[in-house]
Amino acid sequence: MKRPRPTPSNEDNRLVQKKERIKKTHTPVITIRDEDLCANTQALTAVRQVTSATNSKITLAAKQIFIAPSSIEARRDILKKIEELNPARVIAPKPMGERNMMTKIVIKNETFGETVEAIAEEINRCIGITPLRVKPIGKSGRLHLLLFENKYTVRHILHAFDTSQRTIFCAKKNKAQPYMENLAHINQCKNCYAFDHTKHSCYGTKKDPTMITVTATGATITVCSNCKHEGHGANQVNCPAFQKQLAIRERVLLDRQAKSKERSEAARVRKETTFAQALRSNKEFPQLGASSTSITTDEELGPTPPLPPRQTALTASTDQPNMDILLAILQRMDSVVAEVNNMRTEMNSLKTELLIIKRAKTATTVNG
Ligand SMILES: [Zn+2]
Ligand SMILES: [Zn+2]
Repeated sequence: MKRPRPTPSNEDNRLVQKKERIKKTHTPVITIRDEDLCANTQALTAVRQVTSATNSKITLAAKQIFIAPSSIEARRDILKKIEELNPARVIAPKPMGERNMMTKIVIKNETFGETVEAIAEEINRCIGITPLRVKPIGKSGRLHLLLFENKYTVRHILHAFDTSQRTIFCAKKNKAQPYMENLAHINQCKNCYAFDHTKHSCYGTKKDPTMITVTATGATITVCSNCKHEGHGANQVNCPAFQKQLAIRERVLLDRQAKSKERSEAARVRKETTFAQALRSNKEFPQLGASSTSITTDEELGPTPPLPPRQTALTASTDQPNMDILLAILQRMDSVVAEVNNMRTEMNSLKTELLIIKRAKTATTVNG
């Protein structure tokens, strides 16, 4: 049976409010990568003048300059100053307030060559909200990416599709889904061909995928600007730098897959085991979410040290794993029994007292 989709709640409205709050304060760090600039004291002073005027933090480490702008206006001033110095690489992700974030939904529907405007109109007739943009995706011609205004959450839109009495172009059912990012996709800056950012946050000088160098023998050759090898450009798949990124991504995805499998297996075992079975069994039960979900893409981190064994109620001591918990249960039961005994004695004494009073009363009525 298909699980019904959750309906939009107050939580969604709170999420929208939180987004608005973040929009006002979000100013990501600017990174400048230029060895010559780091050694140039004059240029550094010029940058520092702007940062101190705007009360922004500046750090110099590992031949890179990191600037944390104090506000969106400060970020603009700093970037203007940096542009004058013309460094090799400047990475400055856009603050949330300047980003054009839209709610993305994918719809699978048979269309017959309608224009995107006609599809947008039909969607408005169906759910009462007009998408800002409709973009055909994939090769089948049936998938369309719908971009909605930021104020609607994904859940709002999906709920509207689910509860709508109308379907799009008389299809049997509305098939709307949240947009999923392609995890295998590798981002490469189209401006400087680096892999750690996109062209939207790149403020460095534009590079060509190939460059001309002079070899030791004096001949001029054309090499890739990323790996400095002959025969390809930095924007081609056969570049070793790209292949390295591909290998890292593949490893991360496989790792993530293995961890999610482990978690679902742990959930299954825990669901199917009764408390009595857990007590009787000597083996350790898999922990839900035992594996950390943080993923690092940095290849240079090296192997992680082995984690110390986890201590749980069932595995407090490895020799007799269930003794401690049994002892704790027995002690608890002991105290419960003692309490019940106390109550019984008190009730007995109350009963005797009541009986005495009753007898005394009957005696007085007989005598009177
Ligand atoms: Zn770039
Ligand atoms: Zn290359």
